[in-house]
Amino acid sequence: MTPVIALVGRPNVGKSTLFNQMTRSRDALVADFPGLTRDRKYGEGNYEGQKFIVIDTGGLTGDEAGIDAEMARQSLQAVEEADIVLFLVDGRAGLTAGDEMIADHLRRSGKRAHLVVNKTDGQDPDMAAAEFYSLGFESNFLIAAAHNRGIRSLLEELLPEPVDPEEEDRADRYPGIRIGVVGRPNVGKSTLVNRMLGEERVVVYDMPGTTRDSVYIPYERHGEQYTLIDTAGVRRRKNVNEAVEKFSIIKTLKAIEDAHVVILVIDARQGLVEQDLHLIGFVLDAGRSLVIAVNKWDGMDPDDRARVKEQVARRLDFLDYADKYYISALHGTGVGTMYDSVHACYESAMSKWPTNRLTALLQDAVAQHQPPMVRGRRIKLRYAHQGGSNPPVIVVHGNQVDALPGAYKRYLENTFRKVLKVVGSPIRFEFRASE
Ligand code: GDP
Ligand code: GDP
Repeated sequence: MTPVIALVGRPNVGKSTLFNQMTRSRDALVADFPGLTRDRKYGEGNYEGQKFIVIDTGGLTGDEAGIDAEMARQSLQAVEEADIVLFLVDGRAGLTAGDEMIADHLRRSGKRAHLVVNKTDGQDPDMAAAEFYSLGFESNFLIAAAHNRGIRSLLEELLPEPVDPEEEDRADRYPGIRIGVVGRPNVGKSTLVNRMLGEERVVVYDMPGTTRDSVYIPYERHGEQYTLIDTAGVRRRKNVNEAVEKFSIIKTLKAIEDAHVVILVIDARQGLVEQDLHLIGFVLDAGRSLVIAVNKWDGMDPDDRARVKEQVARRLDFLDYADKYYISALHGTGVGTMYDSVHACYESAMSKWPTNRLTALLQDAVAQHQPPMVRGRRIKLRYAHQGGSNPPVIVVHGNQVDALPGAYKRYLENTFRKVLKVVGSPIRFEFRASE
């Protein structure tokens, strides 16, 4: 659904430069995952409406002995899980032994990769590329990442057609509210998935590419349709003793993209950790609605409970619009009540508001609190209309909008959120200059 592009190549061939070019079309979601994945960067890009995820694998040097071995293993996992693999080489440095070793790795992984010759600026591109053809890749692209050259045609050729028909298809196959259950390993995702499905009769379709995809489980509850996106892969396992699936960040990112509402599971016994915050960042950057489930609440003593609640309140104060539940997936306590929030979130994410209502709301907000003066003129905000759903996008037209301070944007977001009663979902604002 959302294609994943992995960048591999020796250090210095231009992977970060290409990564930055591919993700800068909008605020990219970029994070490092210390511990889970080393030295890997994830970002989101958008090429003419087709979203994609890019990974700078970082870890292949061509010399995978000793300390590099673990990094190489992780890079190769990313290669394994990616839809499109780009093997970057440096057109100035020419073919090196490291390139040959990486090419060899890729060949053995059995994954089709595309050769991308970078730094072709300032020289005859065909000359620069010629010696790399001996590596024997089927398709070759010539680019100059630093000058943003060749990247569009590469994406044009490699990315699938834009998303709309797919979204229809997805809605057909996966009816109702799509709920993604995500979280670090061992927080209780599998237990929660089983608990949410309860005794519902569940049909798990055979999914292609099973190990890296989540399992999509359509089900009904109290007459409502849902599809649960199970990143832990519980329902694929034939029995409970079968090995738990490896945590995969790619799988998690895809589940987030494909969901309407994400339930992020946190382990109360461990409290909120850095990786939980990274995952929350991914959900918000993807614009998805969020419900927080602090799990394993059973059998905790009152002091620990108070400490965890205080920590959640303090570190997630920027998320005051998302509901938090303290649950026990093991015993089922609190699980059913989360459906109330799932519905509220879904409604918020999919809401449609007429232009006159949004414009009236904008004008009220401006009357309450004027935007500042810039260069002796007041910033004017004239009207607003909706630009999309899941997440809701509000497009505001006015003049000098580029100079609108962050604090004022936050004021608008808070005001719109309160009046429109948007729960759990981020709201995106786009500002257009109308003169
Ligand atoms: P990475 O280690 O593979 O991530 O490589 P970087 O993206 O950090 O790039 C390494 C160096 O190559 C930097 O100094 C870049 O400015 C330079 N570089 C990247 N792309 C190009 C390009 O298209 N042309 C030229 N001439 N230099 C480039
Ligand atoms: P996953 O890796 O996120 O899918 O986590 P699992 O669902 O496999 O759970 C990891 C461990 O935590 C297992 O031993 C579960 O029995 C345990 N666990 C899950 N939920 C709860 C809970 O609500 N309370 C307690 N005490 N243990 C739980």
